[in-house]
Amino acid sequence: MNKIYLYNTLTRKKEEFKEIKNGEVGLYTCGPTVYNYAHIGNLRAYIFEDILKRVLKYNGYKVKHVMNITDVGHLVGDMDMGEDKLEKGSKREGKTAWEIAEFYTKAFKSDLKKLNIIEPDIWCKATEYIQKQIDLIKILEKKGFTYKTSDGIYYDTSKFKDYNKLSHLDLETLREGARVEKNEEKKNSTDFALWKFSPKDKKRQMEWDSPWGIGFPGWAIECSAMSMAELREQLDIHCGGIDHINVHHTNEIAQSEAATGKQFFNYWMHGAFLNIKGGKKMAKSDDNFLTLKNAFIKKGIDPLVYRFAALQTHYRKPMEYNEEVMKNAEKGLNHLKNQFRNLGEINGKVSKKFKNKFLEEVNNDLNIPKALAVAQEMLKSDLSNEDKKATLLEFDSEIFGVGITNLDIKTEEDIKIDENVEMLKKERQKARKEKNFEESDRLRDEIEKLGYTVEDSKDGVRVYKK
Ligand code: AMP
Ligand code: ZN
Repeated sequence: MNKIYLYNTLTRKKEEFKEIKNGEVGLYTCGPTVYNYAHIGNLRAYIFEDILKRVLKYNGYKVKHVMNITDVGHLVGDMDMGEDKLEKGSKREGKTAWEIAEFYTKAFKSDLKKLNIIEPDIWCKATEYIQKQIDLIKILEKKGFTYKTSDGIYYDTSKFKDYNKLSHLDLETLREGARVEKNEEKKNSTDFALWKFSPKDKKRQMEWDSPWGIGFPGWAIECSAMSMAELREQLDIHCGGIDHINVHHTNEIAQSEAATGKQFFNYWMHGAFLNIKGGKKMAKSDDNFLTLKNAFIKKGIDPLVYRFAALQTHYRKPMEYNEEVMKNAEKGLNHLKNQFRNLGEINGKVSKKFKNKFLEEVNNDLNIPKALAVAQEMLKSDLSNEDKKATLLEFDSEIFGVGITNLDIKTEEDIKIDENVEMLKKERQKARKEKNFEESDRLRDEIEKLGYTVEDSKDGVRVYKK
């Protein structure tokens, strides 16, 4: 097996990846809260996780990928105050919370498909694992990590020694961050809800009985309960966006390790944000919220242009969304597709040399921008066209996933060929028929100078915009 290096937030270092069970990887990625469409910032996180999974598979690992669907209990504020997001969605749209969850789960899965993101092996809905979550809280209660307030059962973060081991922040800074939402009954500002009680005067749409009274689980407990239930001992890699480091993942670690006494996941990986102009994070609560539909599909742009754009920035670097960036990505993707098309038949072999170069980059903390450069280097090399085509096809189908074989997505404007070029093409066709190769070569050069590629096929000469 080749060596894979991954940046681990836990140690703040690039580390050689070592799996727990030989040849297999347990991967848990925090999924969406299904009360609205995913925005393209969220989708950047899932593209990064998809690349991670593809890289592991390309290296020969058998990956077991689990993703949760948060369909209950994620409150508007990270610190357990405010409204339940599902109940909020229900009010907004006049549907039940269950209908909201079902609708946006479907929409989310459809977005993943459009982005060529490979589906997880196991989807976990929080509402289907309520008993597991209750069982975990019971263990924490028995071990003395919990206390009760008027609105729920809380985790006492002062009892967990390494509460700041993922964030690497001093406890004071973490507490400052948590103090934004005031809850006088909490012992420490970083304490978080494991179980919230339903209001006494109101019936919630989603609520369950528990040893502590009717209510619903806190947000972080679902990821601990579900990852342990599905991955068992294979707690290899856990991922999310960087906003999950200080609260959600910190809390997952605190409660899981307190319950089991063992390390909860060996590698923690986080994707940087998609920002809008001025470095502002794209967020659901703002009006800068762009979905795949309104930023791409409605404008006639293939969603895979977004995937291609995301691949051009390393996952740990911030990426900026603006129309110019997307236009360039569209051009870049079309160019790659044309390069692929112009290589003729697919009957060559994958180049070992370039595959190794490519692996070196993707195995170096998923350096996809460099891997794209290796693909271009390979295309410029002296490999035969057939081998180039086979190699590029493998890079795309295994890792990039930008659909280079799909050639019919161009707009009218994109494929319109200048009259002048049409004329030169006809002249070239004639020169070839007359076996006037000197003239035919001269015409090829002239056409290429005008920004087109020339392809000679059985059916005659074809030209494409570069
Ligand atoms: P949520 O549905 O808010 O829990 O977010 C789903 C995923 O998207 C999480 O992994 C977040 O960390 C990630 N995320 C949220 N906003 C952004 C953003 N602007 N850019 C990149 N990832 C984000
Ligand atoms: Zn999670």
